[in-house]
Parts: sequence; structure tokens; C-alpha cells
Amino acid sequence: MKKDTILAHAGRDSHKFEGVVNTPVVRASTILFPTVKAYEASHADRFTRMRYGRYGTQTTHALEEAVAELEGGHGAMICPSGAAAIAAALLAFTKVGDHILMVDTAYTPSRLFSDSVLRHNGVETTYYDPLIGNRIAELIRPNTRLVYCESPGSLTFEVQDIPAIAAAAHARGIPVLNDNTWATPYFFSSFEHGVDVSIHAATKYIGGHSDIMMGIIVTTEAHWRTVRTAVADYGYYASPDDCFMALRGLRTLGVRLKQHQTNALAVAAWLQRHRDVARVMYPALEGDAGHALWRREFTGASGLFGVELKPAPKAAVDAMLDGFEFFGMGASWGGFESLVLPTHPERTRTATRFPAAGPTLRLHIGLEDPDDLIADLEAGFDRLRRIVKQTG
Ligand SMILES: *Cc1c(COP(=O)(O)O)cnc(C)c1O
Repeated sequence: MKKDTILAHAGRDSHKFEGVVNTPVVRASTILFPTVKAYEASHADRFTRMRYGRYGTQTTHALEEAVAELEGGHGAMICPSGAAAIAAALLAFTKVGDHILMVDTAYTPSRLFSDSVLRHNGVETTYYDPLIGNRIAELIRPNTRLVYCESPGSLTFEVQDIPAIAAAAHARGIPVLNDNTWATPYFFSSFEHGVDVSIHAATKYIGGHSDIMMGIIVTTEAHWRTVRTAVADYGYYASPDDCFMALRGLRTLGVRLKQHQTNALAVAAWLQRHRDVARVMYPALEGDAGHALWRREFTGASGLFGVELKPAPKAAVDAMLDGFEFFGMGASWGGFESLVLPTHPERTRTATRFPAAGPTLRLHIGLEDPDDLIADLEAGFDRLRRIVKQTG
């Protein structure tokens, strides 16, 4: 089955619900069993069939099945947020005395978690260059328990050579975890590229409408029980109402992402030619340093990318951002609407240096008409230039 067909059909079984097309919202804490035997037997299947509300209901299981099938993994599990999913996955594999390798361009809260909770647990983190490839082997120690990737990286969108990293990690018997939020399972098939544990902020494109918080972890069969048990041990739970929203988002993931890509390519190409722009950080653009690798690994690009402006004072950039009609300002992305934020990639890196000559932005290109978005940006550049002129 192709991915668009999976999106339309996975995780629903109308026969179970008297013909209803979508798996309904099944809300439950207690699940009743007719006999002791049935109750006791339900323990073995507690993560895939209803036993207790915290482990999920039919709505949760439908979402898990659909995402696992889309990504080609063994099984999925739902977490209360993307950050919660990252935390559970990292904790599942580590204990005092261990060491992990994390990409320098990881989502900032992933780094913060490693530098706080993991460090307090006695787990050491080494950050590595996103372009390291198979040289990751040199950083693997006897106590290294996992390699953590995020491709493309947050804010600056460097593409990682995940198959090369996975080959090196697997040669030493350690798993590769990958934050696949940017591409989603639709544009990056994690398990075909050697990933063992794929992590998603479903808050972003899977939800797709800026109205739910959710994380999803998909694993290979070998790692499923380790991670699923950790998620249960922490008491993680996501409401069936939110799972229903995520399933609804998933049905249109393909058409939305293709449109995000078309729009983002149009806006990014326009920005790349703009006189106030130093560079656009978007692997789907020809000329981007990660373009060849992106073509090899991904089947598409989502709508999130970085922009480095030519040097300009903060007041001018603030004037540009404050006046947009269609670009909202706020955390998160992956909804239907366009967003912009100022970024500071140079502040978080420790293994590499981000050479920032000018101010940097992160743009999320939504489903609006790209002509309107470009006009909005052009008006923003007019505001920027006005302040630059005033301040001489
Ligand atoms: C937003 C995001 C997360 C965290 O997801 P939340 O649902 O906000 O906790 C994790 N990874 C990446 C790459 C993200 O952009």
C-alpha cells in the first residue's frame, strides 16, 4: 500500500462500530471484565487492547496503528507532548553511568532535558556535529547507549546522513533515535534508513491545526517493549479526544504536506533572490548544502525553514516582524497557518559554531496563497529598510 492509501484507511474498522467511518472517541478509565480469568488474561495485551484507560482505548490504539503502519514501524505509542515523548525515549535506554550522543542541532528542549534530568541521573551527553556521518564511530564509548538524531536540525535545517550514522551505531550494538517531526512519517521512512526509535511532535503536522499537544513514538519490534514499558511506567496518557483529533489530522496529512511544500518552495525561492537575504536554510532548495542528501533520503519537504538576513539592527527586524498581516508570531508550527519567529541558533550550540553574520528567522509556510505571503514579506522588508535608513 502507498502512503496516501494508508492515510485514508489505516486505524479504522467500521465493522466494529456499526459502519461509522471514523473510529469514535472512546472515553474510559475503568474497563469491566466478566470473569477473573478474562481480567487476568487482559494484562498481556494491555497496550493494544482495552484494559485500563491510562493505557489507551480503541481511539488511542487506532491512532497508534495508523502511525506505525505509515512509518513502517512495529508499533507506536502516544505521549502527552512531543517533549514528553523525547523524555520517555531517552529515559528508556539510559541509567546512571551511561553516555549518549546527541546532535548539536537538536530541538532546544531536547538538549535542556539531557543537560538537566539526564545529567542528574548520572548520564553524560556528548553533542556532535550534524554533518558527522560515519565519523560518529569515533565518539562511541563502551558506555554509549544511543545516538540521538534530528534531521533536518532545528532552526538551521542541516540534513544528517542517518544511514551512515545507523551503520556505525549498529556495528557497536546501540540504537538510533530520531526526531522525525519536520518530515513526518509521510516524507521520511525512518525504518528504511536504519532508525530504531522514531519520535514525533504530533502537535505539529500530524495534528495539523494548532489545537492539540501530543507526542508519538514508533519503534522497531526489538525496542518496542523497552520504550512502551517506560511510557507506561511514567504514567503517560493522552486523551482519546486528542487522539481523535490527531487521527482526523492524519487523514489529510498527505495533501496538506504536499501543499506546504509547494508554498514553501515558492516563498523560499523568492527569499533566496531577495537583496536583504543572506541565505535560506531549506534542504529542498537547490544550492542548499544538504540538498543532495535530502533528495536521497526524503520524499518531500515540509513547510518549515530558516532565513539568515543581511546584517540589520534589531529594531529594524522587530519592525519587520511586528507588522505582518498573515505571519503569526508564536511557538510551534505545522498548522495550516503561516508563522514567523526570530531565532538564535548561535546561543545553544556547543559542538559546532553557527556563523551568524546577520539576524536569523524561522518561517513556517502555511496553506495560504503564496502570492499573499510574498506580498506580506515584501511589506515587512519595506518596514525593515525604513528603520535601517533612519538609523543610518
Ligand atoms: C515542537 C517540537 C518538539 C516538541 O513537541 P511538543 O509537542 O511541543 O512538546 C519536539 N521536536 C521538535 C523538532 C519540535 O519542533
